[in-house]
Amino acid sequence: MKRTAKIITKTRKPPKKEEAKLLKHAEMKIITQIKDIQQNLYEARKSGKKIGFAPTMGALHDGHISLIQKSNKTADITICSIFVNPTQFNDPSDLKKYPIKVKEDINLLQKAGCDILFMPAVIEMYPQGTKNHNPRDFGFLCQTLEGEFRPGHFEGMVQVVERLLDIVQPDYLFMGQKDYQQQLIVGRLIKQMKSKTRLVVCPIKREKDGLAMSSRNMRLSQKNRGVAPEIYKVLRLAQKLFRQGKLRIGDIAERCSGQLKAVKGMELEYFEIRNSLTLQPARRRNEKLVALTAVRLGGIRLIDNILLN
Ligand code: AMP
Repeated sequence: MKRTAKIITKTRKPPKKEEAKLLKHAEMKIITQIKDIQQNLYEARKSGKKIGFAPTMGALHDGHISLIQKSNKTADITICSIFVNPTQFNDPSDLKKYPIKVKEDINLLQKAGCDILFMPAVIEMYPQGTKNHNPRDFGFLCQTLEGEFRPGHFEGMVQVVERLLDIVQPDYLFMGQKDYQQQLIVGRLIKQMKSKTRLVVCPIKREKDGLAMSSRNMRLSQKNRGVAPEIYKVLRLAQKLFRQGKLRIGDIAERCSGQLKAVKGMELEYFEIRNSLTLQPARRRNEKLVALTAVRLGGIRLIDNILLN
């Protein structure tokens, strides 16, 4: 459908500049009400279209856009949501400072070929208030690593993702490996909900110097931006040491932690090597492993990870 629409545009007389702008605008629907998105999706589903969905909090970068591109390739209709979910911010000042760039986001999504942008207000998502009366329990998976350093974060994330899944009911859900623990929890959520949605985990998009793209990067000072790529260098080192097979897993984690702690201005929250499915501490070399880290640089919290085998 999307392709046909493009072909039709091509065979028309080339529109004037202003008209071209409007035409482009018309290609992506911007929806703020749940009933409107459901109406749109009902029509699409009735005509047999597969729906791909990428939930975000906006301030979009190429990492987010890679999810849209993957959805365009996989599904017939791509929906992106932008919703800065208040319930997943354990630190109120982090929520206050979260970058908002609606105009730029709309432009990027249009260029990427997104079909629908869903941008609900807080009251639309939480008409009964933001209190989570029946939080789902994922035990250890929610309590470790990010769960330990950001208490309540995953409960809020699950609350909003479940609500979004109920609203959109996508065939495919696109999430980034960047938020490793998040995608594991959402995988469990989908199973618990007995949903038919297929979770597609997309690789981490990085800057040229290796820093994982993040909406938070723009808040780094020039100096801190300069040292931030050290995070990925150390993750690569962990992967290299693991593959060489000379050091024990615990020693690799210790050496990498030490290297990050030695970076000027960097505060290490954790550097851990864990089972890549359960996030339990690594026991054997032949289980699937992931190295995960969180650091603070000038008060900005950055996370990253790498699969070891
Ligand atoms: P956020 O807006 O930070 O909530 O992220 C929305 C989605 O984009 C999540 O599924 C993230 O994992 C994904 N994402 C964020 N950064 C990246 C990146 N650098 N590469 C790939 N996916 C990303």
